[in-house]
Amino acid sequence: MTKLLNGNQLAIEIRKEISKEIEKNILNQKKRVPHLGIILTGNDQSSITYVNSKIKECKNIGIKSSLVHLPVGCLENRLLEEINKMNQNPLIDGFIVQLPLEKHINQDKIILSINPKKDVDGFHPENFGKMALNMKAFFPATALGILTLLERNQINISGKHTVVIGRSRIVGSPISILMSGKSHLGNSTVTLTHSHTPNIEHYTKQADIIIVAVGIPEFLKGNMIKKGAIIIDVGINSIKNEKKILGDVDFHSVYGKASYLTPVPGGVGPMTRVMLLKNTLIAALNRKNK
Ligand code: NAP
Repeated sequence: MTKLLNGNQLAIEIRKEISKEIEKNILNQKKRVPHLGIILTGNDQSSITYVNSKIKECKNIGIKSSLVHLPVGCLENRLLEEINKMNQNPLIDGFIVQLPLEKHINQDKIILSINPKKDVDGFHPENFGKMALNMKAFFPATALGILTLLERNQINISGKHTVVIGRSRIVGSPISILMSGKSHLGNSTVTLTHSHTPNIEHYTKQADIIIVAVGIPEFLKGNMIKKGAIIIDVGINSIKNEKKILGDVDFHSVYGKASYLTPVPGGVGPMTRVMLLKNTLIAALNRKNK
């Protein structure tokens, strides 16, 4: 029997918790509502869709959002100017720069220019470094979403062998760090695999937990896992001609063999979105001014 881990349902619960906290610790204290800034560049359709859904989520929960949309081909300096304005603006609690950026913009320079205290995506090296050292920091939303999904479903990861497939800065690296970290959400034994790992099945067949973030539709097949493994599918791959979204896990061959599995859509995706709201709430609670 495979149990599906319902990210939609849990995200609804967490949104309610965030709303309650905004009411109790912000509105009832006569403080202003949390405020998320979003900087979007260019006209990549997926980025526009993601940003629109972030704005909608903010609105539904009582978080104010402000969008700055820069045109295709905008200069790096122009983007840096907008980041500086968000850094300086005392009315913005936290902000994100929607990735990916156009090729002519240096992504590292952009991430480094964000004030770490407002970096609610958790991508700045200060937050990333603190995360690696088990210190308080903003953690990247997808990794936080996966850990929350596991925790709230009473899935204990301590002492388990986790294989992560993919080592991106956004997903694979942070989830490996957090799951192997010395904390109540960590203590797993983590193997991090990537495109240079020969014979990935050798690792996945031994894993108690597999987290797949490769961006290749249906990459992980049922014959690559052991019976009872816990499978977290991070992938979101839109299949253009068929107008559908596939995960990085071959759902049909894994379903029935895994003990737990996240569906796509409705698994990790909604958890990622709600964790951005949570980080924004934390940034608002951290503020010194009212
Ligand atoms: P990414 O930056 O493209 O990284 C992909 C990773 O997969 C890289 O580390 C790459 O290895 C590795 N890889 C590629 N081919 C491989 C292979 N054949 N065997 C083993 N590893 C391989 O991707 P990402 O940003 O992490 O995103 C991954 C997927 O998750 C995408 O579908 C994306 O849309 C989705 N995503 C979903 C959410 C969500 O909220 N659900 C959030 C973010 C991303 P190298 O490092 O060696 O190149």
